[in-house]
Amino acid sequence: MTGNVRLVDLLAHRRVIGDAIDAAVSRTIADGRWIMGPAVGELEAGLAARCGASSAVTCSNCTDALKLGLLALGLGHGDAVLCPSFTFTATAEVIALLGAVPVFVDCEPPGFNLSVESTVEAIASARRAGLVPVGIISVDLFGVPAGYEALEAVAAEEGLWLLADAAQSFGATLGGRAVGTFGEVSATSFFPAKPLGCYGDGGATFTDDDGLAGKLRSLRSHGQGADKYDNVRVGMNARLDSIQAAVLVEKLTIFDGELERRRAIARTYGERLAEVVGTPQVPERCEPTWAQYTLRVPERDSFQKRLAAAGVDSAVYYPRPLHRQPAYSSGPGAGLVSLAESERAASEVLSIPVHPYLTDAEVDIVVESVTAVAADLA
Ligand SMILES: *Cc1c(COP(=O)(O)O)cnc(C)c1O
Repeated sequence: MTGNVRLVDLLAHRRVIGDAIDAAVSRTIADGRWIMGPAVGELEAGLAARCGASSAVTCSNCTDALKLGLLALGLGHGDAVLCPSFTFTATAEVIALLGAVPVFVDCEPPGFNLSVESTVEAIASARRAGLVPVGIISVDLFGVPAGYEALEAVAAEEGLWLLADAAQSFGATLGGRAVGTFGEVSATSFFPAKPLGCYGDGGATFTDDDGLAGKLRSLRSHGQGADKYDNVRVGMNARLDSIQAAVLVEKLTIFDGELERRRAIARTYGERLAEVVGTPQVPERCEPTWAQYTLRVPERDSFQKRLAAAGVDSAVYYPRPLHRQPAYSSGPGAGLVSLAESERAASEVLSIPVHPYLTDAEVDIVVESVTAVAADLA
């Protein structure tokens, strides 16, 4: 059996709510308040309610959300921030862009999130190297929440803040808590291919701290104070467009159903592929978003080619850990702890289709194709 199973299908949801989204966009256009219009406030209330954070502050994208978080937390020039090496570039980029030093931490197999042990080791190595660690950016890679219980304890013990890069995990829960409530601030992305995507770039920050929420709001509008021409701090222009907010208000109405479908597909993969390839391990009491369903496979590049020949799309997130990227390889925080597991992950990972509009027949094709390719390469 061969198929044409795509990794993502950005248009499929339009069969369900395309008309409602188009009507909401038309209303927003007719309304004329295209910057910080009523849809932005409506979305922020919906997002905060969805995850249980006191405040949701929307913004232009998740990279800016992380930057706003770092600024609100008071990151200074030369400060050191712990972050995983096996992640999307933006996680470390925002640290470096603000003149601080990313200190790379290894991931913890069989999962892909940062290792608590490596984090503790990296904090000590950074201090020995004369750096001043001030915080940790954790990443919920592929939509599986990081080990927050242990990370929050380490952060508290070491006197560091914790910023959650939840770009892939809005909607996930861990130990009865929702993503958006971990760390001092969380940041998420509404990039189209993320589990909750808009029709362009978009993002949001979440916090339970009213002081930080006020700073985040001020920072996204040029450090505004009492009004537009009162500038109390150096900020950014990082607002979410009203049109994107209107799209997201509609998409939130079907988000739970979409997550349920992703989780059902992931369960099927777990049941049928665990003996065949390395399937993702989910922590106890955890419901991921399954932004990606990422396998560890042998001979990854041949594996991917063979899957493609069977009509199944796949992708490598990410082919190179950040400490091996020219932009980060020579920084003072690059070589402080072993990053061998990040390198191994980068050579083994392969993400297979898990989007919510896959049919059962397509899921079967994926399972059968992965099984056949694995047998071929065994
Ligand atoms: C997508 C992503 C980002 C960046 O999100 P944008 O909205 O595209 O800026 C940051 N971190 C991680 C882990 C991501 O997956």
